[in-house]
Amino acid sequence: MNLFDSVETLQGVGPKMAEIFKKAGIKTVRDFFYNLPRDYENYEAPTSISEIRPGKVVIKGKIDSISTRRARRRNLSVTEGIIRDNTGSVKVVWFNQNYRAKQFQPEKEYYFTGNFELRNGRYSLVSPSAAEVAEIDPSVGLSPVYVAHGSLKSHVFRRLVANSRSKFNEIPDLLPTVKPGTRKNALFLAHFPNSLKSVKGARDYLAYEELFELILAAKLNRQENEKLKAVQIPFDAEKIKKLVGNLPFRLTNAQRLAAWEIFKNMEQGTPMNRLLQGDVGSGKTMVAALASYEAILNGFQVAFLAPTAILANQHYESLVKILNNFGVKIALLTGATKKKTELKRDISDGKIDLIIGTHALLTDDTEFKNLALVVIDEQHRFGVEQRQKLLLKSPDGLAPHLLAMTATPIPRSLQLTIFGDLDVSILNELPKGRQPIATKILSEIETKNSLYPKIRETINAGQQVYWVCKAIDDDPRTETMSVKSRTEKLKGVFPKAKIEFLHGRMKPAEKDDIMERFSSGKIQILVSTTVIEVGVDVPNATLMAIENAESYGLAQLHQLRGRVGRGKLASSCYLLTTGDMRPSKRLMELEKSTDGFYLAEVDLKLRGPGEIYGALQHGALDLRIASLSDTRLIHRAQVDVMKFLQKPENMLKYKELMVGITKYQQITTLN
Ligand code: ADP
Ligand code: MG
Repeated sequence: MNLFDSVETLQGVGPKMAEIFKKAGIKTVRDFFYNLPRDYENYEAPTSISEIRPGKVVIKGKIDSISTRRARRRNLSVTEGIIRDNTGSVKVVWFNQNYRAKQFQPEKEYYFTGNFELRNGRYSLVSPSAAEVAEIDPSVGLSPVYVAHGSLKSHVFRRLVANSRSKFNEIPDLLPTVKPGTRKNALFLAHFPNSLKSVKGARDYLAYEELFELILAAKLNRQENEKLKAVQIPFDAEKIKKLVGNLPFRLTNAQRLAAWEIFKNMEQGTPMNRLLQGDVGSGKTMVAALASYEAILNGFQVAFLAPTAILANQHYESLVKILNNFGVKIALLTGATKKKTELKRDISDGKIDLIIGTHALLTDDTEFKNLALVVIDEQHRFGVEQRQKLLLKSPDGLAPHLLAMTATPIPRSLQLTIFGDLDVSILNELPKGRQPIATKILSEIETKNSLYPKIRETINAGQQVYWVCKAIDDDPRTETMSVKSRTEKLKGVFPKAKIEFLHGRMKPAEKDDIMERFSSGKIQILVSTTVIEVGVDVPNATLMAIENAESYGLAQLHQLRGRVGRGKLASSCYLLTTGDMRPSKRLMELEKSTDGFYLAEVDLKLRGPGEIYGALQHGALDLRIASLSDTRLIHRAQVDVMKFLQKPENMLKYKELMVGITKYQQITTLN
């Protein structure tokens, strides 16, 4: 058996099944073994049917008179049957699971577990899981549950794994850092558990293996980066001091330290690969401005990439303010830019020092004369290819220095794994005089009773308000109100206020116009979708209401909230909820804390790493076991990876490992 053989080489997997597997991302024998159960059903100690009580039950019996019918309502199909044991019988029902009608053979015995509850006036077992008794070791009673992919249901996969039971013994070792046989035992126990304890042991090893791969990928990325050459940019203390002295504020210590780390990096002949993390409002743009100025002083060009036109505009304005008097030629390139051809010619002629732009910067016809620094704001909003495009624009085979910025703080565990190839600077300090944002969860009633008066006070005091809506269009099914309807409604409540709306589908010129008028205070209440989420900087906006707050992730809510509290004025954020459900843990954490680093840790625990790694959440990273918050395991894997790397011959010896990590190397690198 070779792990990289097609799944078709396994017993019971024909071309048709292989096709279904392929759709589920299972192509090789290796993929097959690593398609781990998502859970385990416990069929231990079944109850006799005559004894069952409402609630979660396990029973053991044969099934008969099973059939499927269409319900009159909606697109529902109902599969019903009778389960019998020698003490009695009970009705069983599944919804939209037609395959159940064919799953069971009348002479065979099965375990069922699910809720026994009142349904249309009769007690039934509702949508239970099921497993064939003969397939389960009675002394263990555990049955793995797999994620279903189309017609590849859990029980089908379970049967195929059982067919290949003897193959597990042939699984070779992957890592030299654990006892021989650990891997095959772990995979075997994950699929054929003999106790919950052994399952945990198996999964711990598999998590370790995954972390090992991630960390090794990051370390190799780092080694590869160190082989590249970059222009050396010497530090000009005099001129930097002059620029800093000219600012209307003092740099925070965190800003000073970050800038110093960047200057040090750029002096080296290898490309900087640095992530600047700072909570919303911590002044990352200022740090990027210093780095840019340093490169430009030495005669080089800088490209500054922002994820949206609004943000590019804003960066353009702030950078012009900071750098214009220092002889820096700055330009803006977005989809809306006129005379693009001329501007691109100026860039390639070197007439522009600092070009700020959106994706429009990434087209093949944008060429640079001597690009030495790339700044990427909100780096997780760009895909790998997009970032690479820009990094390839440097002439002469020299790689540009890279400064990536993010306002979504990255928990330490992710820094060590997914982001292990980066250097990190942290702005853990807000500029002086900022007041913490008071955050409060409001029910529907409270919204009417207390929010409107607060909004009135705010606009009467000459300050401004953001009202965040979920949707651009009304959705009658979910009662989500669109920006437009919400605007109308608020106009009814505040007839004298200037209220406008903003969303991502508006024309760029229209959006710019609205943002411009909000910035200059001509709009008092801005009703918007999350397009305002990143970066928008209007210090006079001091109140934010977020409608349907429950529908957002923690990191995103924190980011949105960061649009207020940007000046010296006290600000508040209201999280509006509907219905009478208790607010989620997410919202309560947000109400308690304004510390982005703390919230990122909470988020990682509550939601897994997906949201933090932005674009990657759509499966690219595809981690089998979410182990990224287990710092102890991470530490162990880290130490072992270092040992592994001390013997360069390991790279040749452990071929399977190297194949596996190439995927991670491509996905997680910044360059
Ligand atoms: P971030 O991008 O990190 O969210 P910004 O760079 O947009 O933050 O900065 C937020 C605001 O703080 C801007 O208005 C900026 O001019 C201002 N600012 C930056 N650094 C300082 C500082 N050291 N002291 C006071 N204000 C600052
Ligand atoms: Mg910013």
